[in-house]
Amino acid sequence: MSSTAIRKNKAEGAAQPEPETSRPRPERHCSVRKTVEIVLDSWTFLVVREAFFGVRRFDKFQSRLGVPRQTLSSRLAMLAENGILFSRKGVVPRGHEYLLTEKGKDLFSTMLSLMEFGDKWLTGGEPPPLTLIHKTCGHVCHPTTVCAQCHEPVGAREVSFRDGPGAGFSAFEVKNRFRRSSDTTLLQRVRPCSVARSLQIIGDRWSFLILREGWFGVRRFDEMMEKLGISSNILADRLSRLVEAGVFRKERYGGGDRFEYRFTDMGHDLYKPMIVMMRWGDRWLSEGRSPLRLRHRNCGQDFEPQVVCSHCCGEIAARDTDYELTYQID
Ligand SMILES: [Zn+2]
Ligand SMILES: [Zn+2]
Repeated sequence: MSSTAIRKNKAEGAAQPEPETSRPRPERHCSVRKTVEIVLDSWTFLVVREAFFGVRRFDKFQSRLGVPRQTLSSRLAMLAENGILFSRKGVVPRGHEYLLTEKGKDLFSTMLSLMEFGDKWLTGGEPPPLTLIHKTCGHVCHPTTVCAQCHEPVGAREVSFRDGPGAGFSAFEVKNRFRRSSDTTLLQRVRPCSVARSLQIIGDRWSFLILREGWFGVRRFDEMMEKLGISSNILADRLSRLVEAGVFRKERYGGGDRFEYRFTDMGHDLYKPMIVMMRWGDRWLSEGRSPLRLRHRNCGQDFEPQVVCSHCCGEIAARDTDYELTYQID
């Protein structure tokens, strides 16, 4: 990317970013984290989503998303650099087409799992904005995250973990060079979308790290501060947002004015898209050395998440789906 493009990116957001810790800190190895660095940039995510909806050409991405040209160029370049999209000369004169690679297509189950979560928890009583049709069986379907071994739907409490071959802590260099827009409503631009709504909850870097520590059993303010090297005001802010979003509930402990943060049922459910993302990261970013091994307690086998059709229980691939929107676009 040219220096002009970098400067342009820096000028995009109105609000100042929160200071990142300047020296690299030892961090838990985590495939979700690596995935998040790639996918959870708002614009990047929107570009990938439109690609799943069949958009291929620059102008079409631009008109669908209302995104500045420079921003779109930089995101397309980043996605190509990370092997998620590739470009080829299109059939239309002067046009390049951007297509999902296998690695990119494999993000579909992450999108579906985020959709499952958003459809369940974040529609505010309205019908989900998008109805999926599984062409393989011809029925309307809801994505459902199950155990690939026993095919039972899975919950966070039923999965245990142990260290895998890539486990450990090391300095994590923040690679995401894009400033995240502080305006999370960006994610709902153009299309109402359950996936976007779910990302609004996970989608901030600190919130994501707090959630992750939660799944590792870290519940108390001081402990989180120490584990994450996060300042107390940022931590307090993110925790109150996560409580407000319904992911955590705050509980008094030790008789005094001390609180711990426990997952609500909704919070536990967020575990599903996180493990689907984690497996994507294991497959594509960890060179086969997954930091965590999961076990499904119910069947006793190593846990591999799979997103299947609620009607026929077959795995859902992007090419086998169609969709109907319950709202108008364009
Ligand atoms: Zn199982
Ligand atoms: Zn089906």
